[in-house]
This record gives sequence, structure tokens and C-alpha cells, in this order.
Amino acid sequence: DSIIRMFNVSKRYGKKHAVKDISLDIAAGEFIFVTGPSGAGKSTLMKLIYLAERATQGQILIDGMNIDRISYDRVPFLRRRIGVIFQDFKLIPNRSVFANVALVLEAAGVKQLTIKNRVMTVLKTMGIADKANAFPPSLSGGEQQRVAIARAVVGNPRIILADEPTGSLDNRSAQMVLDYLMQYNDRGATILIASHNIQLISSTVRARSISLVDGVLAGTARML
Ligand code: ADP
Ligand code: ADP
Repeated sequence: DSIIRMFNVSKRYGKKHAVKDISLDIAAGEFIFVTGPSGAGKSTLMKLIYLAERATQGQILIDGMNIDRISYDRVPFLRRRIGVIFQDFKLIPNRSVFANVALVLEAAGVKQLTIKNRVMTVLKTMGIADKANAFPPSLSGGEQQRVAIARAVVGNPRIILADEPTGSLDNRSAQMVLDYLMQYNDRGATILIASHNIQLISSTVRARSISLVDGVLAGTARML
């Protein structure tokens, strides 16, 4: 039951390969770390999956859908199946926490009452319901990342991508972020985390680890 499949996927910027000839099969419900040094192609791999970039070669199937073929006006529909979390959070600073999370559902045309209920439920799960009316810059890094997770999961996406989500957090907040992602994995979401936090990766027993070196898939291991 594959949710993400890649067939000989490459992405070039000019003459340089950011990722090269990647073939990958990810089953629904997997929890995967994408590791490798800075510049190895981890971000690019994620961007190809959520269509922030298009592959120069190869094919990518998400949920059986060939994403190279989908037109730009269909991209938002694909994005709704995927929640994305970044190292620098990418929250809107002059909107409330509530509004940041609600935006996803508003864009999807969800009814106001449903939006209120769902946003507040997710904020409670993340332990930040009391921050609903606060603005992101007034929160700690760990709290901001929890808002970002809330935004990523509020639409119940089947896939959650996290690009160095703990890169700017202390160990305690990093572990908390990982714990929340594991909770969503327990509920069936497929999780991909790009990280070079070895300590965090080795503490996550359930994960499969994929490693990139110079854009090439260097090996995949299942830790158990
Ligand atoms: P990582 O996330 O593992 O640090 P990236 O996917 O960001 O790696 O980058 C992989 C390679 O592609 C690097 O050599 C990087 O410099 C290059 N690259 C990434 N994005 C661009 C871009 N927009 N333009 C040109 N080169 C890029
Ligand atoms: P805007 O920047 O558009 O004014 P707001 O942050 O004021 O966004 O909120 C947008 C919507 O979310 C409004 O309908 C508001 O009533 C609702 N809302 C804002 N904060 C909360 C909250 N803490 N609990 C429930 N609903 C909220």
C-alpha cells in the first residue's frame, strides 16, 4: 500500500544535480527520517513531493496520482493532502495563532463553526490552546513550532513532511515536536522528517532511515 513512489527522479539546478536518480517506495503509515549532510538534497526531495519544485526527470506518484502531470491549478488540491513543517516555522507574524492555523481550512472552504472547533481541538492537542489569540513572535521557538504542526495537521493530511523541524529548538522542545509527530503517525499519517539530529533519530525506534549523499540515495535502513 504505497503512498509515495519515486521512479528514477532527478532534479537539476543548472548543471548541478540536487537529487539524482532516486527510486523510493514509501508505504502508507511509515515514519521516515531523511538524513545526510547539508546540501545532500533533503530539502529538494521534500519540495518535489509537495510540488514546490518539479522534477527534471523521473516520475513521482502520490497516492497513485502522477504529480508531474497535474496542472498548476490542481496543485492546491494536492497540497491539501500534505502538511508541511519548516525549520523556521514560516508562520504569519501579524496574524493570531488561531488565524495561522485556520487559514488552511478557510482556503479549503470549510464552514466557520467547523473551523473554530477543529482549530481549537488541534491547539489543545498541542498544548497551546491558551495561545490562540497570541501572535507568533511573542511565543518561544518550541511553541511556534507547535503552532506550525497544528497548521500542518489541521486538515488531516495523509502525509506530513518536516524539513529540519527541530533545527532551531533545544533538546526538550525537539523531543516534544517528535512526540507530536509520532502521535499523528499513530493515527495513520505518513511522516517524513529531514534531519541531521542523530540523537533524535537514534531515539526514534519506529523509524526507517533514508540517507542522501550528494543527491544520491546512499542506503536505507530500518531501525528496530
Ligand atoms: P539539504 O536540504 O540536504 O541541505 P538541498 O536540497 O537544500 O540540500 O540542496 C541540494 C543541492 O542543491 C545543494 O547543492 C544546493 O546548493 C542545491 N540547491 C538547492 N536549491 C537550489 C536552488 N534553488 N538553486 C540552485 N541550487 C540549489
Ligand atoms: P483576523 O486577522 O482575520 O481578524 P482573527 O485572529 O481575528 O483573524 O480570527 C479569525 C476568526 O477566528 C474570527 O472568526 C474569530 O472569531 C476566530 N477566532 C480567533 N481567535 C479565536 C479563539 N481563540 N477561539 C475561537 N475562535 C477564534
